[in-house]
Amino acid sequence: MTSDTFNNELKHRFVLNDSLHQLFDAVDAISVQGYDEQRRVIYWNQGSERLYGYSKEEAEGRKLEDLIIPDVLRDSVIQGHKAWLKTGKEIPASEITLRHKNGQHVFVFSSHVMFVNQYGTKQMYCIDIDLKDLRQAQAQITFKEHMLESIFDAIPDLFLLVDLEGLVIDYYSNNTGDYFADSTQFKGQNITDLFSEDQNHHIGIKLERVIKQKTNTRIEYEHRLSDKTRYFEARLSYIDDYDQVMIIIRDITEQHQAAELIRHQAYYDNLTSLPNRFLSLERLSQSLTQSQKHNEKTAVLFLDLDDFKKINDSLGHEIGDKLLIKCAKRLQNAIKNEATVGRLGGDEFIVLINGLVNRNDVVSIIQTLLEALRRPFNLDDKELIMTVSIGVAIYPDDGDSASDLLRNADIAMYQAKALGRNTYSFFTQEMNVIMQRRLVLEAQMHGALERHEFEVYFQPQIDIKNKKIIGAEALIRWHNASLGHVMPDEFIPVAEQTGLIVPIGEFVIKQAMHFLSDWEKNQNSKLSMAVNISPRQFRDEGLFTFIRDQLREMSLSPEQLELEITEGVLMNGQGYIKNALNKIKQLGIKLGMDDFGTGYSSLGYLRKFSFDVLKVDRSFVQGITTNRADYDLVKATIAMARSLGLSVVAEGVETKEQLIMIQGLGCQVVQGFYYSKPLTAKNLLEYSKLFDNTENQSSV
Ligand code: C2E
Ligand code: CA
Ligand code: CA
Repeated sequence: MTSDTFNNELKHRFVLNDSLHQLFDAVDAISVQGYDEQRRVIYWNQGSERLYGYSKEEAEGRKLEDLIIPDVLRDSVIQGHKAWLKTGKEIPASEITLRHKNGQHVFVFSSHVMFVNQYGTKQMYCIDIDLKDLRQAQAQITFKEHMLESIFDAIPDLFLLVDLEGLVIDYYSNNTGDYFADSTQFKGQNITDLFSEDQNHHIGIKLERVIKQKTNTRIEYEHRLSDKTRYFEARLSYIDDYDQVMIIIRDITEQHQAAELIRHQAYYDNLTSLPNRFLSLERLSQSLTQSQKHNEKTAVLFLDLDDFKKINDSLGHEIGDKLLIKCAKRLQNAIKNEATVGRLGGDEFIVLINGLVNRNDVVSIIQTLLEALRRPFNLDDKELIMTVSIGVAIYPDDGDSASDLLRNADIAMYQAKALGRNTYSFFTQEMNVIMQRRLVLEAQMHGALERHEFEVYFQPQIDIKNKKIIGAEALIRWHNASLGHVMPDEFIPVAEQTGLIVPIGEFVIKQAMHFLSDWEKNQNSKLSMAVNISPRQFRDEGLFTFIRDQLREMSLSPEQLELEITEGVLMNGQGYIKNALNKIKQLGIKLGMDDFGTGYSSLGYLRKFSFDVLKVDRSFVQGITTNRADYDLVKATIAMARSLGLSVVAEGVETKEQLIMIQGLGCQVVQGFYYSKPLTAKNLLEYSKLFDNTENQSSV
């Protein structure tokens, strides 16, 4: 039978209940199919086309079981339909899996009606609702349930679901550890009963807030369990629309301990276990608040071990560290609980003393501290003597903030060092003035080179026997717009500390070499130039290449340059100093010992580094005519220098008497105001004309 003949047949034999079909036609979200007694399709709406893939034309006339019924259901569907026709036993509505044109499953909820048309034959209508989305949603829910389960399983946290009253509705825990309460007790309990007494009030408040504000929060708490304390974190999270709160409890004992350790390291010094700088200042700030309240004084003691660097350099850091630990112990024992001892870093300590009525009350404590360190230390079979210099600043007299007091105690400490160490010094405003000046110098010194504020002066050195100029010493001068003329004794130490001495030192060398070259041409004889070098410059790796290049550029030979260093430099004992001195010798540059007699004069050094020139300090030269001891020292120095083959320069010769006496002791070269002050390059050229370096005559 063709579909045309079937269609004709339909018109005669079936009711086309138009109003009903119109309704079915209008709903394309639902599939409606009509079947005749042979289960042939007599009606197929758009919803059916969409759901099962067959167009109306394709479907009409074909049998139900050949269209959308999967093989497994074929017999039962046919039987069910037959039974319905025969006995009136309905096929019940049900969820059922049918078949799409492309063979895929179609999940539907299928209901059926049967009625008899005017020809007395029966027609069955199936109304199928697509359950795909529903199925998917259900699958999603099942998946989420599984996922949640595995999350609960994998995470050692305890999950408690509570209602608005705080009653536990449900809980999840995979944790078998003994630190959560027995989980079977949870259900039906109030959440606050699960916490220790001092915590439950806290958690109650948090819970209230979470519920009121519909938000999240967390709290940390500790719990004593079989005499060890464990730490927990509870996160409270409001579940929207359900009026429930999820409480997730986690054991954070390990993190807590790690954090504690870090905290300790952040506040305490590793080596000595004393409070570190940070904590010390923190405590100082607290003390100040207390002192202010009670109208008391607080003393800040800044302690700096004397010459600790020498111990570190000569005996090694290990011994240095041990000594620091011992010092820390002694300081702590000396003051017991009366005060805080902290380590600021290196060999610097701080002591805070509270509750002072009178500033002099601190003196006895200082004496105890000085005394405590005075006993020798025994370390690795060595007996070491260690002393300390202490600076004192008092709140509120010397400052009202922790940083001001620390700074002023530091300034006072420098004063104690200047007083000869192993002593203490109270801060005074005058010290502050000196310090302020230092800061200004430092500020002005930046950019001073670029602003051409430095100038090199030259002080001639005279051979008194031959009445000839043999050379000069280069001495730097600084003219600053706001500071005026600043002398090197004042600004060189600042330049050394800031490292600016390196570029400034290069400037001096360059100027000195330029001048020497000009001067020689002018004088028509060989001359030498002495340049002062700070130890800091030896740490500059480029120094010697720079010097060599300058000599080459000016066509000068190395022995015309003399580098002057002071004895203190040698005492430093650092490896780089030794290397530098050897390098100087290698290059053929002369080495001069400056200010001889003022420091730790040691013949050993003179020999070891084969110095060429020794400069007798002007303090001895100036005392030579009046002071027997000075005379003896100069005499011995000159004799010794000669025996070592060093040439001697007497500095600071101001008078004829000094000159005669120096000459009498066998010193041939002098430098001093008697002949000339340090001069500008131009003035020295002028001055040099007074000497005729070719004849042994002088007009001076
Ligand atoms: P110094 O190396 O001992 O230089 C000698 C100082 O004594 C100079 O002081 C000089 O002006 C002064 N003087 C010379 N003859 C007499 C005299 O007859 N009587 C008196 N009362 N003083 C005399 P100046 O120029 O003020 O330099 C002071 C110190 O600054 C120098 O002492 C030196 O240590 C340092 N200095 C100067 N220029 C430089 C430099 O370019 N680099 C480095 N690193 N230090 C420098
Ligand atoms: Ca010098
Ligand atoms: Ca000198």
